Amino acid sequence: MKSLIIAIDGPSGAGKGTISRTLAESLKYRHIDTGAMYRAVGWKALHDDIALDDEAAIAALAGRSHILVEGGRVSIDGDDVTQSIRTPEIDKAAAAVARLPRVREVLVARQRQMGEQGGVVMEGRDIGTVVFPHADIKIYLDASAEERARRRLNDTAHSGGQAGEAAVAASIQARDRSDTTRTVSPLTRAADAVRIDTTHMPIDHVVETVVRLVRDKITNR
Ligand code: C5P
Repeated sequence: MKSLIIAIDGPSGAGKGTISRTLAESLKYRHIDTGAMYRAVGWKALHDDIALDDEAAIAALAGRSHILVEGGRVSIDGDDVTQSIRTPEIDKAAAAVARLPRVREVLVARQRQMGEQGGVVMEGRDIGTVVFPHADIKIYLDASAEERARRRLNDTAHSGGQAGEAAVAASIQARDRSDTTRTVSPLTRAADAVRIDTTHMPIDHVVETVVRLVRDKITNR
């Protein structure tokens, strides 16, 4: 059977991480978290004291850095940043560097290289629209802003001593705004993506729904 490219897009907290990981395990596909790549670049820019709007410097940094995002760990140039990229500070830094067209060019090219052989579940914001517009299966996961903030609050992998529900909700809203209004590759649903609203669905139910949908699509091809 042909190894497919499966694109999973949607806003922060819609459940992309859990769903993509479980789906990849169940199909024995690779799971690539492209958000972690933007986070790693944001982390490195802060680490190297580069201004987050210095497009040329950050694109150069992205171009020369070695980023690994598979197998549940994230590293950049040998630094394991798996945990340190899940903080409110890096939420902001990642969204800031993701607005820069030349940075996206570098990372999108890498993502295409990583996924073009198929056998991959790639999650992000622009996978079905820009990175792989011809992906075999496209899913757009969504949920209400309140539910996404609640999930983020309960996400033990995401730390940083946030000031509670209101701060988390404000941060999610700011990121939604940045992701949907940027001029390059704004977050939007591809016309041929299946939209799943996960607001009232327990996560294991979403996983079941997505796995069933993908298996149906694979057998009916
Ligand atoms: O998915 P995650 O929340 O880890 O992504 C961090 C940030 O990276 C997002 O807020 C978004 O600005 C950016 N991103 C992107 N395109 C992707 C994946 C993430 O612009 N494909």
